[in-house]
Amino acid sequence: DKYLSGLNRSKKSFGDRIRVLSNNFHGIDDELLEEIMVILLESDVGIHTAQKIVDAFEQRGKEIKNYDSMEDYLISILYDFYDEQNDEPIQFNSDGPTIIFMVGVNGSGKTTTSAKLIKNYKEEGKKVAVVAADTFRAGAVDQIEVWANRLDVACIKGKPNQDPSSVIMDGCKYAMENQIDILICDTAGRLQNKTNLMKELTKMSRVAQKVIPSAPHEVWLVMDATTGQNGISQAQLFLEATNVTGIVLTKMDGTAKGGVVLAIRDLLHLPVRFLGLGEKPEDLKPFDINAYLMGITK
Ligand code: GDP
Repeated sequence: DKYLSGLNRSKKSFGDRIRVLSNNFHGIDDELLEEIMVILLESDVGIHTAQKIVDAFEQRGKEIKNYDSMEDYLISILYDFYDEQNDEPIQFNSDGPTIIFMVGVNGSGKTTTSAKLIKNYKEEGKKVAVVAADTFRAGAVDQIEVWANRLDVACIKGKPNQDPSSVIMDGCKYAMENQIDILICDTAGRLQNKTNLMKELTKMSRVAQKVIPSAPHEVWLVMDATTGQNGISQAQLFLEATNVTGIVLTKMDGTAKGGVVLAIRDLLHLPVRFLGLGEKPEDLKPFDINAYLMGITK
């Protein structure tokens, strides 16, 4: 299964090493805590988050006596750490089209993820359309249009360098007139500076609200897992610029840095909604913390 094989790759640096560690288990001591720290850092959990996890491990790990319970214990600590209980479910508009903005830097996988979401929601029986509002990256409009044609959904597009907001406006009108359930908006990923980014994203929301007052219903930040801790600092800029509601973490198939999920949670306080596990439209999985933790430790 693609999901597991995707996670298995991140497991090489995490689960396999935890197991090796567990084989030589001789109780909680500084050496073990240090080894756990190294494993977390190599999985790109980041120093700040890794320290918190190691502290939790030390505090509560005194009861650990053997290999099996250590593995279970690590899972329970990471599960509590992720703390999904208070997550809002995805907000769907009960009263018209659900507008989803895709944001993120160029190359993160926004356009590919938009295609994946089209397929995902179409398969759920929803009527989907896509807005090609990334009018600044050469090729982005053509790229999403090709996917829209293949997946047989409408694509609302602008001309090169057209104001992305005006394309969003056209898309929202189209969605209202054509009883669209889900409108995926592939936005531009220019990140010259925070002020411009904020202006652009605010304008996109404002024009969407002229057509559908409750829009956008979700704003998903697409992050490339292979960029690790750098991706987190970029993400913080987007969070300051707009009301991001969730994360899509792409390229999880090509990385041993799966631990970045824990850093995202710790530093950005947002739910991870989907994982990207390849370049094709079917390579998308809803994120599930249990499956994720089983994937890295089993
Ligand atoms: P955008 O600039 O953010 O729209 O990024 P694209 O969607 O064009 O993606 C950039 C590159 O990353 C492309 O070559 C995609 O095929 C690739 N890509 C996107 N998502 C994934 C993923 O989950 N796994 C892998 N292996 N490649 C991906």
